[in-house]
Parts: sequence; structure tokens; C-alpha cells
Amino acid sequence: MRQIALYGKGGIGKSTTSANLSAAWAEEGRDVLQIGCDPKHDSTRMLMNGTVIPTVLDLLRDNGSAIPVADVIYTGYAGVRCVEAGGPDPGVGCAGRGIIATFQLLEKLGALRGDIIVYDVLGDVVCGGFAMPMRESYAEEVYLVTSGELMSLYAANNIAKAVSRLSANRRSRVRLGGVIGNGKNIDCEEELVAEFAEAIGSRLITFIPRSPTVQQAELNKKTVIEYAPASSQAEVYRLSAGAILGNTEYSIPTPLTIDELESLAYRYLKE
Ligand code: SF4
Repeated sequence: MRQIALYGKGGIGKSTTSANLSAAWAEEGRDVLQIGCDPKHDSTRMLMNGTVIPTVLDLLRDNGSAIPVADVIYTGYAGVRCVEAGGPDPGVGCAGRGIIATFQLLEKLGALRGDIIVYDVLGDVVCGGFAMPMRESYAEEVYLVTSGELMSLYAANNIAKAVSRLSANRRSRVRLGGVIGNGKNIDCEEELVAEFAEAIGSRLITFIPRSPTVQQAELNKKTVIEYAPASSQAEVYRLSAGAILGNTEYSIPTPLTIDELESLAYRYLKE
């Protein structure tokens, strides 16, 4: 079983990427479980034809721990099993309760299984629980999702720091699998993200160019794989899914200092 976690700044397109990768893997006949951990709890929405499914935290709050598996796991496009960890009310904070409760419940239900488990995790350190899947050794392969924007690279570099710190623990199995570039139409963006990936001791595993097909698919409440299966963007997601599944190179990242990161980004800005 592969346990793959996508981390990145809020709004960078982790959920879109995760959902399309899950859809691509499921179309090939793989048993995929996608777990979203984001205060917006919309990680799995496009796999569910626009439906926002109940979150584990809400279910636990309403029912205690006696929750049947059918109330937690929803079957989406191509059979992808979908779970949303959920979060607390705005301003309350979570400190990882959402994702910890989700792991505990799924383990109790025997549901942490399949060919691939995809964790779609918010990379903002503020939510307090973002390191949980890594710390508890659920996320074994981490992929950083970033564009060429400085704030997105900052977040990716911070997550690389967390991976580096957590992998120092002898019991930890977490490793960085690579960087996924999610394009925002910035000049030389692929080169910038590839150089960032190399600078932290990793590599660009795939680059997903910006495409209007993504917005069209989302307006139709579907993944690109489902909405426009013959499009070039669907092909990009399929190739990305293949690249991640075929990946055998993992590293402990060497995060950059802020100065190093900024000078890398500014060098590209000036070109
Ligand atoms: S750690 Fe908690 S608040 Fe943060 S995204 Fe996950 S469930 Fe939400």
C-alpha cells in the first residue's frame, strides 16, 4: 500500500491535484482512498460531483464514536473512497484533533486500506495538525505542491523543514518523494520550481501547466479526468499519476534559508 501525502500552501491547488491523481489511479483499477484535511473540507468535492461530504469531526461531535463506515467513507468517481477529516469552527483551532480523530476512526473501522491512500493536507503551520500524518508515520511519501510564486515556495520550503526534522526520528518512515509544480503562468516557472526542488535535495517530479480546462471541470463539479478525459490536461494528470507511482527516489530534504530562497526567486524575476 502506498501512502502518499500532498502538502502545500492553501489555495495552491492541492485538492484539484489530489482529486485528479486519485481519479487517474482509480481509472486504472486501483483501490484509492483520499483523505482531505482542510478547514474548507472540499478536498473530495469534485470526486463527489460537487457534494460536500460530512466531516469526521462533525460526525464524532454529533454521534460520539459509534459511527458506521458508510457515514464516513463515500464512494466517488471511479470508486475512489472519500473522507474529509474536517476542522473546528473558525478561530477555535484544531491542533491536529481532526486528522488524529480521523486516523483513529478509520483504523477502528478497518478502513485504512487499499492500493493507494492519498492525504491532501493543508500546509499552513497555523492549523497545528499539519505534521500529524508525517509524525504518526501515516504519510510515508510526501510531495510538495508549489507554483513559482514566492509565498508558495516559502510554504513548500517550510514543509521541507518539517519533513527534514521529522525524518530525523529513527522510527519515522517519512521521506520527500518530490515536488509537483502547479503552474500559475509565471515566466520560466517550471525552471524555477525545478531549481528549487534540486536546491532542497529533491526533484521536480511533474509540472502541471495552468489550463482553463481545470476551471471548466470545476464549474461542472468534476475532476478534469472525468469532465474532459480526452483533453491534454487530463493527459498531464495521468502522466503525473504514473510518474508518482513509478517513483523510487526519496530523500531527506535540505531546506533553504530565507535568503537562499529569496535570491533564487528574485533571480528568476529579473530574467
Ligand atoms: S489539522 Fe485540523 S484544522 Fe488543520 S486542516 Fe486538519 S482537521 Fe483542519
